Amino acid sequence: MKKTIKDIEVKGKKILLRLDLNVPLNKETGEISDDTRIMESLSTINYLCENGARVLICSHLGRPEGIDKKYSLKPVAEKLEKILKHKVFFAEDTVGKDAKTKSKELCDGEVLVLENLRFDKREEENDEGFCKELASLADIYVNDAFGTAHRKHASTYGVANLLPNAVGFLMGKELKVINGILDNPKRPFVAILGGAKIKDKIPVIENLILKADTILIGGGMSYTFKKALGGNVGKSLVDEEKLELAKSLIEKAKANNVELVLPVDTVCALDFSSEAKSKKFSAEQIPDEYMGMDIGKKTIKIFKKYIKKAGTIVWNGPLGVFEFDKFAKGTNKIAKAISKTKAFTFIGGGDSASAIIKSGYAKEVNHISTGGGASLNMLEGKVLPGVEAIDEVGQEKKFVKDKNTSKTAKKSTSKKPATKKSTAKKTTTKKSTTKKTNSKKTVKEK
Ligand code: AMP
Repeated sequence: MKKTIKDIEVKGKKILLRLDLNVPLNKETGEISDDTRIMESLSTINYLCENGARVLICSHLGRPEGIDKKYSLKPVAEKLEKILKHKVFFAEDTVGKDAKTKSKELCDGEVLVLENLRFDKREEENDEGFCKELASLADIYVNDAFGTAHRKHASTYGVANLLPNAVGFLMGKELKVINGILDNPKRPFVAILGGAKIKDKIPVIENLILKADTILIGGGMSYTFKKALGGNVGKSLVDEEKLELAKSLIEKAKANNVELVLPVDTVCALDFSSEAKSKKFSAEQIPDEYMGMDIGKKTIKIFKKYIKKAGTIVWNGPLGVFEFDKFAKGTNKIAKAISKTKAFTFIGGGDSASAIIKSGYAKEVNHISTGGGASLNMLEGKVLPGVEAIDEVGQEKKFVKDKNTSKTAKKSTSKKPATKKSTAKKTTTKKSTTKKTNSKKTVKEK
């Protein structure tokens, strides 16, 4: 089991806390259009503050090419300050003079947000020098950014080798849920896979053939399977290069006694448009000029039968072009069926998370992952670099402490503790922030 923040003494320690604060920004105003990622990080931030840590938050935002103020984390720091209802400091750089000065001045229970990690190209290169500079700011590293745990970057991977480390609450919960599903699922274990990018889903199918009882395939990728079996799929989305692989997966599923269930009927259109007239066809006999846009009624009925009997459900990828209302029926019906089942239900982030939120059934789901790519990688059976880098309980690796790092650590421990006043202030804010976290929480026990 990975070390969590509860396994470490944080009082008076400078914690480099990697969060996923990659919030969506309004294209015109640049304002934060959805603060879910900030809200999801609150439980770890609050725990660290309440336990007297000095919290240095780092994150990426967007895909800037070098320094680009459009992607500054300053508005995120300001938003966080409003939510926490206590001062949040901001460093104008990531590992530069301002970050160094402000991190040294931080008192117990205080929060400092560093500027966007990706303003420095060394972040994504997992550059050794950048890792050392990040590590020199803190005594302990905590990773709570599940959404970027599949990236081998300085702040998600390299820095963990230089400092004592642990995972935060959000990451801990994701690992517990996904590992639990893969290692010990309540059966029958039903996986529902949709979406368009068959190349992303094939490794998931390959791994789930070894774990699941039933795999229901819908969405754009189902037509590659249909064509592989000799069906006529018209203009539907097909990955010609993956036809053979699709055929071999069907065989592999059979050999492993796993039911791989494909659509029997499909809602089609002449063009890829929200206004397109829809027409239903058998999934094997789509006329040449039509393309499959959604699963049909009979398929929904079949899928619902499996969902009803399931003990565990994993869903990744919409079952049709759900962005167009006309072709969202299959996805919405399946979302509703998932919300009504007694099974443990897991939604793998990304489009499936948007689809369940859009359909209004998100509250009924046990766990909606905060990492689309990361959860997909775990379902493939991969170990995420950001997870691998964190120590197991009782097996702490000997981290390399360079001169810079020990100097910082020494200074930090000799720092005077925070005043009673600042601690009291934090305690009074606890209730309101916790309440907010709960009300917006997407991760929920049934
Ligand atoms: P993915 O990222 O692979 O999960 O794909 C998600 C996308 O798949 C969504 O934007 C859907 O609109 C798209 N999609 C689902 N079904 C179809 C389909 N039948 N044809 C084309 N695109 C689809």
